[in-house]
Amino acid sequence: MGIDNLSSVSRSHTTAIDIFSDHHIHTPLCHHATGSMEEYVQAAIKKGLRKICFLEHMEEGIDARRVTWLTEKDFDFYFAQGRLLQEKYNSQIEILLGVEVGYNPEQIATLQDRLTARTWDWIGVSYHFHRYTKDSDHYNLVSKQDHRVLALSTAEAETILAVYYTHLCDAIDLLPCNMVCHLDAPLRYHSGHPFFSQPWKEIKLLLKKLKDKNIALELNTSGIAIRNDVFPGKEILHQAILHNIPLVASSDSHSPKTVGAYFSSLPDIIDKAKRYHT
Ligand SMILES: [Zn+2]
Ligand SMILES: [Zn+2]
Repeated sequence: MGIDNLSSVSRSHTTAIDIFSDHHIHTPLCHHATGSMEEYVQAAIKKGLRKICFLEHMEEGIDARRVTWLTEKDFDFYFAQGRLLQEKYNSQIEILLGVEVGYNPEQIATLQDRLTARTWDWIGVSYHFHRYTKDSDHYNLVSKQDHRVLALSTAEAETILAVYYTHLCDAIDLLPCNMVCHLDAPLRYHSGHPFFSQPWKEIKLLLKKLKDKNIALELNTSGIAIRNDVFPGKEILHQAILHNIPLVASSDSHSPKTVGAYFSSLPDIIDKAKRYHT
């Protein structure tokens, strides 16, 4: 369905999700996205979106082979460019400037300092990088290029998943935040991904915290191309709906082509998740 039909889709469903806003868009400043910031804005206008939020990667103290995040100097440029675009496209679309902050339990104070040093329109929290043992560097839990992650046994993967949700609980207690990003995306490229048993104790604790703190959960449509479902999948989404957690539409675009992708499917995805039974 084209974006032109979005109005009728949103009117025919009752669940509150704004499919005219995309709250998760990257830029080339993170070194793994293509297209200029302006091209993302133009793509969003063309799709009929009313609001977009750039949500660029902040990481601190990560030992990884590839740098996929911005320096403070990059963030200066990001804000300068973003302000110009806000002015230029003011009458056509609302543009927010936010951050996807990667939690790192070793760097809490520095992350807090960096987040409070700027005025962000929106803060999304994620956890991509995991120091597997005390002496190892960080494994990238959401990359298809980190072969060590892909080689983990089921038991190892399930242990990491439980730790992942616990870290997210800590992150939303310790960092300012509006939204949790791509909740069940870690290990998504691992062949065992569909079969892992989920750490429900930790997941439910996190969902309760989101509800208590009124933090949104993003429905990240980048999952549809990867596994034919949004992040998080219907089991977790069902629980999130039961908890009345605010839901936010996000494309996680790393290319202007995917801005607002699959948003017209979101009301149906939510309806199906509502009716989901284990
Ligand atoms: Zn990214
Ligand atoms: Zn992310």
